[in-house]
Amino acid sequence: MTTIQEVQKLSHFIGGKKVEGTSGRFGEVFNPSTGEVIAGVPLATAEETKQAIELAKKGQVEWQAKSLAKKMEVVLNFRNLLYSRQDELVDIVCLESGKTKADALGEITRGLESVDLALSAPHLLKGEYSVNVGGNINAFSTKSPLGVVAAIAPFNFPVMVPVAMTSMAVAVGNSVILKPSEKVPHSALFISELWAEAGLPEGVWSVVNGDKEVVDELLKNEDVSAISFVGSTRIAEYVYQTGTQHGKRVAAFGGGKNHMIIMPDADLEQAATAFLGAAYGAASQRCMAISTAMPVGEETAEKFVSILNEKVRALKVGPYTDEQVDFGPVISKEAKQNVLSEINNSIEEGASLVIDGRNPEICESSEGYYLGPTLLDNVTPDMKIYKEEVFGPARIVVRVPSLEDAIDLVNKHELGNGVTIYTNSGAASRKFTSEIEVGMVGVNVPIPIPVGYYNFGGWKSSKFGEGHMFGPDTVRFFTKNKTISERWPEDQLEQASFSFPSN
Ligand code: NAD
Repeated sequence: MTTIQEVQKLSHFIGGKKVEGTSGRFGEVFNPSTGEVIAGVPLATAEETKQAIELAKKGQVEWQAKSLAKKMEVVLNFRNLLYSRQDELVDIVCLESGKTKADALGEITRGLESVDLALSAPHLLKGEYSVNVGGNINAFSTKSPLGVVAAIAPFNFPVMVPVAMTSMAVAVGNSVILKPSEKVPHSALFISELWAEAGLPEGVWSVVNGDKEVVDELLKNEDVSAISFVGSTRIAEYVYQTGTQHGKRVAAFGGGKNHMIIMPDADLEQAATAFLGAAYGAASQRCMAISTAMPVGEETAEKFVSILNEKVRALKVGPYTDEQVDFGPVISKEAKQNVLSEINNSIEEGASLVIDGRNPEICESSEGYYLGPTLLDNVTPDMKIYKEEVFGPARIVVRVPSLEDAIDLVNKHELGNGVTIYTNSGAASRKFTSEIEVGMVGVNVPIPIPVGYYNFGGWKSSKFGEGHMFGPDTVRFFTKNKTISERWPEDQLEQASFSFPSN
């Protein structure tokens, strides 16, 4: 087995170029499909992070001063490079995350969508203008960049999430410091090269690799104005609390426990097919993955589980090099162990194991972190596996007697990222969409992720803070408003006024 001493040591990307880490600390980066160590990622110190912030401050002044036309030229160059080099990036994503090639390409496509939105920054930055609001005064508003902003990213979308978190931030004139997940640093470093080639001034885009030490410096440093975080709920909460205590604007996106409600009138074949991809795709490592099937009524549950049983058994797990596989490994040995514990624990708590994926047969690369698709029926809301987000292919069925019960359970869950209903009834759909307390809602749609020009974000403990990713709210999050009242008098003021003017 290769050790970290033998593999390539990665760098940071600061001030427009690769910079070697000086901390002497390195994290191991694994290929989850084989379990091999493939690189060492430098874990920066607070001091190295401060230096990156200093360069980001300088770069931001230059970048803010560029015209909108020039800024859009650079963003468009970046978009074109991301598109033209997507095949190289697919290979990188597959290697460090274990995703299938089709899935890696899909996430790059969604990332491109957010760059497309960033290209509409000139339109979205347009302010208000009112003529003669009183005494020949005209009033108008503008949106200014915040300065240096930070993005702290998770492992499960090495391209889409960092690109979605940062493209608009750059387009509206900020400098960005990205702290990628230490599990998938290659993709972020590749993206950095594309920004540099696109013509972004030095310092405007940096990647500082690391762990809690870097995050804490970003959260506390007075020159960082805003934090965009995506990751698990507990860390999202910590980032929100620490960042806001230090006067920062924070949008922290956390985990999900996403339900699919299946009504008795639904096309069960179609619902089961939709469940498959939404539940097991990417080895269930998506914040919007469906984790819980909630069939309404015993008859629906019996039929749905029986159809699902056959379909889930046919799924194929394996390395991304095999184009026939439906999904790959989970990200790490620890992640695999967590999912196994959740399955074992739920069986002890009384869940019925319909399909057991704990020991999948993988012909090659058996050291990879593979788990087969697992399906547990008769899960109840008091079980741990229902309460927590499970980031791996163990999916559950919670049977409910009515739509009211389904809505009530979803609304009581701590997490509220996504939810969907399968039904042919307009009345059921209307009741569901109006009463459900979740941020992203689907009707006969497997994963209700909004398109790039709509706001993305969950409710409850799936998101802390008011900012959004994607959508027009991204512009509001990364800018501050200025309102100007302007008068060009023909006559001089005759006397001072000590009270607000009245009509
Ligand atoms: P994670 O919370 O472990 O890590 C996210 C980031 O936080 C990483 O950059 C990591 O280095 C950093 N971090 C980890 N521990 C920290 C600590 N103690 N202090 C400071 N920083 C710390 O999440 P992950 O395992 O990389 O990603 C999976 C999670 O992300 C899942 O819960 C998933 O649902 C969530 N996610 C949410 C969304 C969303 O839009 N809501 C999107 C993708 C992923």
